[in-house]
Amino acid sequence: MNITCHSSLFATSLVQKMKEFLRPHLHNLTPYTPILPFEALSEWLGIPAEKIIKLDANENPYGILPAVADALRELPYAHIYPDPESRFLRRALADYHKIPVENILAGAGADELIDLILRFFIEPGDVILNCPPTFGMYAFDTAINGGQIINVPRLDDFSVDADALLEAVAEYKPKLLFLATPNNPDGSLLRSETIDALLEENLLLVLDEAYMEFAPPNSSRIKEVAEREKLIVLRTFSKWAGLAGLRVGYGIFPSWLMPYLWTAKQPYNVSVAASEAALAALKNADQLEEIGQKIIAERKRLYTTLQEIDCLEPYPSQSNFILCKVIERDAAKLKADLAKQGILIRYFNKPRLDDHIRISIGKPEQMDVVVRALEKM
Ligand SMILES: *Cc1c(COP(=O)(O)O)cnc(C)c1O
Repeated sequence: MNITCHSSLFATSLVQKMKEFLRPHLHNLTPYTPILPFEALSEWLGIPAEKIIKLDANENPYGILPAVADALRELPYAHIYPDPESRFLRRALADYHKIPVENILAGAGADELIDLILRFFIEPGDVILNCPPTFGMYAFDTAINGGQIINVPRLDDFSVDADALLEAVAEYKPKLLFLATPNNPDGSLLRSETIDALLEENLLLVLDEAYMEFAPPNSSRIKEVAEREKLIVLRTFSKWAGLAGLRVGYGIFPSWLMPYLWTAKQPYNVSVAASEAALAALKNADQLEEIGQKIIAERKRLYTTLQEIDCLEPYPSQSNFILCKVIERDAAKLKADLAKQGILIRYFNKPRLDDHIRISIGKPEQMDVVVRALEKM
């Protein structure tokens, strides 16, 4: 056959044919809108990366601990595959939280575990209830796994509408329910009574505690997991420990689920670097706790300051960010104007949030710059 007869028309129909091999639900996905990498932004703005004040992804402004930098510099076994069971890391986590090591699974960030959980339970068409505004990955991973999202919107103060949620649970009988506490993007904790009521239901409750280290003591349910059958708690090193770029998180799962997780997880999901960094961070948890206190103090200071700015209405937060309603101004433009000055904050072009901005808590001197810029506007 003459190769030149491959007309573009032929190629197009071939592409069409190949695309039909894709799993049908993949045709209808709305793409995830990630934030622009800040090195790319630095290039675009012509501002050196180290001068950019990055407050758009709730990362730790203090960076990694010196002990983590040392551990990464001295990685002895980067040429060897990591331990599929992340034994040392899980043991350190068990010690730190005083929970059984048998119930802990490490992952490439909490994000990997959200996807893993959905892959374990979702059949095409299964309903997952979602309480927006909230973290986007629950809906994103549900869609990728062929599930169907039914929204139970939050109330005006962004708390979960518990009555509506329990009604929806009765109606749709979902297998799983993901709730972030504190919630992203507003920083509010899920009410304890709501958690208790949901634990009575016939479903697996996944509490995403990605920001729990910034919440008041004893807000976590992490210690209950091993004693229950229907509770999963997710945690991460990304926010509190400053390891967002290394991708390491963990989940605490009921005992009956662990054997399934061990058989079906990706064997080498947590890299040697991520694992060593997380271990070094945990060994120096006292330093992380100190940094956490600084962030909490700064959150309180920022909240008071933001209340005094006319066009902003901050929401109380138990996390490392503050959500603000923007009044009589365009929130998207506010975000863009700050970006031009090298200050990155988060704007969500989504229902209920398109007149809001979210500011991650940075160092005090960074927050001073942000507040001055906001006041000038
Ligand atoms: C940032 C975030 C995560 C993701 O954590 P990784 O460990 O970085 O994947 C999970 N849940 C919520 C609510 C978050 O905001």
